[in-house]
Amino acid sequence: MPRPLVATVDIAALKHNLDVARAHAPGARTWAVVKANAYGHGLERAVRGFAAADGLGLIEPEGALALRRLGWNKRILLLEGCFDTEDLMQSAQHGVDIVVHSPEQLAMLEQTQLTQAVDVHLKINTGMNRLGFAPAVCRDIHARLRAIPAVRSISFITHFANADEDAHAVLPAAEQRARFESAIAGLGGERCLSNSAADLLHADCAGDWVRPGIMLYGATPSAGSAASFGLRPAMTLRSEIIGVQHIDRGDAVGYGSTFVADGPMTIGVVACGYADGYPRHAPNGTPVLVNGVRTRMVGRVSMDMITVDLTPIAQAGVGSEVVLWGEGLPIDEVARAAGTVGYELMCAVAPRVRMAEIG
Ligand SMILES: *Cc1c(COP(=O)(O)O)cnc(C)c1O
Repeated sequence: MPRPLVATVDIAALKHNLDVARAHAPGARTWAVVKANAYGHGLERAVRGFAAADGLGLIEPEGALALRRLGWNKRILLLEGCFDTEDLMQSAQHGVDIVVHSPEQLAMLEQTQLTQAVDVHLKINTGMNRLGFAPAVCRDIHARLRAIPAVRSISFITHFANADEDAHAVLPAAEQRARFESAIAGLGGERCLSNSAADLLHADCAGDWVRPGIMLYGATPSAGSAASFGLRPAMTLRSEIIGVQHIDRGDAVGYGSTFVADGPMTIGVVACGYADGYPRHAPNGTPVLVNGVRTRMVGRVSMDMITVDLTPIAQAGVGSEVVLWGEGLPIDEVARAAGTVGYELMCAVAPRVRMAEIG
């Protein structure tokens, strides 16, 4: 008898969310971002859910090869490019597009004899100051890329720091976009700027390709609700109550006795803890659904269990269904309560959690 904890992925929701992303950028093609095992949803499910995408983008070279083995024959983009020469040869061999973001990657491309052509995406640092070439050197880099016989096409890519903020951010999206355009003015090649936040909020940045990630999984990049954008949760993490305690005023719950009852209460013990990926820092009051009714977590998250307040849910007991996030309880709300983002929660679902799917 396995533990009752299951993460169910809704393939139809993946498809639907991709449609939402595409509707926001009607003139652009879409890289559906599937890094980190499709944000915890599984590459194989992503291949089916995002069948209508024009390409898949990810970080892991071994993931790119896995996508080919899964039968994905459209484009694949390595968002951080290659980590070594072996990656580069494999990318060319399997028709995987690569980002080139550093002088080291450029030198590797110049020095490696590739027998197959490769499509390159020149990454421009427009102010994020993470990956990419300074705008001032982009023309030189472009010329060097053009001189490499194996380079078939050169596209341009940048990444926003604040696409989810308003125009008063230290570095507004509009400013990054302007730096990007001026760095490559007059150069032919496809443009790709937008992550989910820009896809949703800055239609003017759509360019030739967009790169949505988090929205495809039914969560938002920051404040605001996914539902208000018409997004549907792609993952529902469900478990069950496996134990019940009746406590009185002054009784404490769990490690550190961080929750003390101020009256008689019924406590439900849920089979899900931080070893499953539930955030250990989730405080008292973090929302949970039991039998579809919203209640709160009480006491500290432990490795294999959390404890919740069943007092307001008369019918609840051992075997009652618990939703940790997903259908009926947005992952963004749970993340916000725990001081993190939906990205971290979905990516952290642990290997011991059983996965299932619908749709
Ligand atoms: C992860 C990633 C994305 C997707 O970002 P979201 O905020 O999840 O939409 C886009 N581009 C790059 C380069 C990324 O690494």
